[in-house]
Amino acid sequence: MELKKRLDHLLERIEKARLAYSRHHIVRLVAVSKYASLEQVQELYACGQRAFGENYIQEFGRKATSLQDLPLEWHMLGPLQHNKINKLLELKPALLHSLHSLELAQAIDTRAKEPINALLQVNVSGEAQKNGVALEHALETYAKISQTCPKIHLQGLMAMGPLGGDEAQSERVFSAARDLFDKLPKAKTLSMGMSGDFELAIAYGANLVRVGNALFH
Ligand SMILES: *Cc1c(COP(=O)(O)O)cnc(C)c1O
Repeated sequence: MELKKRLDHLLERIEKARLAYSRHHIVRLVAVSKYASLEQVQELYACGQRAFGENYIQEFGRKATSLQDLPLEWHMLGPLQHNKINKLLELKPALLHSLHSLELAQAIDTRAKEPINALLQVNVSGEAQKNGVALEHALETYAKISQTCPKIHLQGLMAMGPLGGDEAQSERVFSAARDLFDKLPKAKTLSMGMSGDFELAIAYGANLVRVGNALFH
């Protein structure tokens, strides 16, 4: 299938899930371009897509620099090592989804000259392979980052569904992330849902979905 058709099909599915949840609920799509070529990103741009997500700083830098003449919005999704912080800040991402600890937040805060928008990544399922703050510490960590890191503008949460989990497990994760999100002061972005589970995530209130495979198979 050509890329434009895949995008149209994906947008229809998102729209359907959105309407089933609430007509007043707006869902943003971040096209996860980690599997995509520069040409594919340009092709989606020509269809109207503006927000793209990358997992690795080097690849993010390469794509963002090559496509700097386009008004794209870049999202950083992947695990961030402390030695990549300066590079990340240079790239000025629209949103950092993978802020996974108070230590990382403080390290970014000391180096940042300008504010950076970020989401606290929460490891809701508790799986060892996953990054993120444990669910039971998330409220406290969110408050501490807000209080001690003036350069970090927290906008909400990022969560991932369980790896290879069944629907009931995914529902538990999304529902717990949503409960936490509702407790946060002034949070506006709940980033959850990928190719395999974005409709379910929207049913639990996700307002930003990150989709790669379903677009760039
Ligand atoms: C790769 C990735 C995605 C996209 O996953 P797909 O299954 O390809 O849709 C979303 N979020 C994060 C954090 C990722 O690493």
